[in-house]
Amino acid sequence: MQLQYDIAVVGGGLAGAVAALAAAAEGWRVAFIAPPPPRQDGRTTALLSQSIDLLEHLRVWDQVQPVSAPLRTMRILDGTSRLFRAPPVSFHASEIDLDAFGYNIPNEPLFEALHRATSASQAIERFHSPLAAAAQGDADITLDLEDGTQLTARAALAADGRNSALREAIGIQVKTWSYPQSALVMNFSHRLNHGDISTEFHTEQGPFTQVPLPGKRSSLVWAVKPDQVDRYLAMERADLNQEVEQRMRSILGAVEVEDGIQAWPLSSLIASSFGAGRTMLVGETGHAFPPIGAQGLNLGLRDIMQAIDALKAAGGPDGAPRAVSDYNRKRRIDVTSRTAGVDLLNRALLSSFLPMQALRAGGLAALSAIPPLRNLAMREGMTPGWRKGGASTLSAQRG
Ligand SMILES: Cc1cc2nc3c(=O)[nH]c(=O)nc-3n(C[C@H](O)[C@H](O)[C@H](O)COP(=O)(O)OP(=O)(O)OC[C@H]3O[C@@H](n4cnc5c(N)ncnc54)[C@H](O)[C@@H]3O)c2cc1C
Repeated sequence: MQLQYDIAVVGGGLAGAVAALAAAAEGWRVAFIAPPPPRQDGRTTALLSQSIDLLEHLRVWDQVQPVSAPLRTMRILDGTSRLFRAPPVSFHASEIDLDAFGYNIPNEPLFEALHRATSASQAIERFHSPLAAAAQGDADITLDLEDGTQLTARAALAADGRNSALREAIGIQVKTWSYPQSALVMNFSHRLNHGDISTEFHTEQGPFTQVPLPGKRSSLVWAVKPDQVDRYLAMERADLNQEVEQRMRSILGAVEVEDGIQAWPLSSLIASSFGAGRTMLVGETGHAFPPIGAQGLNLGLRDIMQAIDALKAAGGPDGAPRAVSDYNRKRRIDVTSRTAGVDLLNRALLSSFLPMQALRAGGLAALSAIPPLRNLAMREGMTPGWRKGGASTLSAQRG
């Protein structure tokens, strides 16, 4: 018997699980091709308010809110010893009439809440076997799984990550590049209150970013040279505590790093197009970049909102080809501008080229000194295209 669905979502990471729930919420029958993740994810994710609204709409936010912390102030401190150094810049949510920019959420509980919701949904059928091959036809897309299962769907969302099999099967090329950086990821407790402030230190190795967790705890994303990773992972805990406190300039007092430190290599990727035929790329299948300014998954969730909006505007999954061309056109500015912006900022940090350093310091100085510019940057950072009503119907309709 042929298995037929309205939508196939390939990949069960955070983007895939959200995509499956968002499609099911529209009343579409979903094939969710989601093998178990390759490893536990010790990271936390700072999600901005538009993304939180989406989690609320999908009825998972109340499950993760208790383990999440609000982000009311985001601060950038220049931790370089360069000739051109930037003044501190603080962005306060209250400046744009928000209670918080968003929340910092540990990935594991978020992942579990999303997967509980996909299991509970009558509209979603989960397949644990990975995708092996796919072929797009005039009326649908046929997907072959590694265990021999074959199914068809009117439309597909490719959320199978950087090395996406579905993206390759439909012939979309990607441009990839790497950086001389890995991210050390850890959580730590600290003596002083963080006051709901996230602090991003800009250093010669890249960002060193503390993000609040509930209580006197925070998460840390620390960009280091790849050949330093083993040294930090092997460090005595007391020495590592001291190293982190020193790099934080003791703004949170003494720190105690918790178990579960992980390293993630940093690289970038951008797809040449964000969809073809009946398939749209969402999340890291279409774009990836270093973790600066909490952009990656927020951008991935905007993909999902816009993909669902495009399918709805095309009359549902039957109208996938029209939705795909609409989606491809609409995602371009948001994805390319975020990818280029993060890349430029990261390169400016790593660069020893003086004009590049001056440009970075000058840009931050302008943001610090000119409130209307800071206000514009904050609004654009929260909701790209806000002046043209950039919010999706999914993030606008709560509950
Ligand atoms: C250190 C770090 C910190 C970050 N912090 C933030 C932050 O604060 N805020 C933010 O917005 N973003 C952040 N990001 C980015 C964010 O983590 C990513 O955007 C997000 O995890 C990507 O999720 P994804 O589901 O698109 O991809 P993945 O998590 O890579 O999921 C892809 C899934 O596809 C599956 N898959 C692979 N092959 C197949 C196949 N053949 N068939 C079926 N399934 C397959 C895999 O098993 C996997 O589960 C951070 C990233 C890093 C590295």
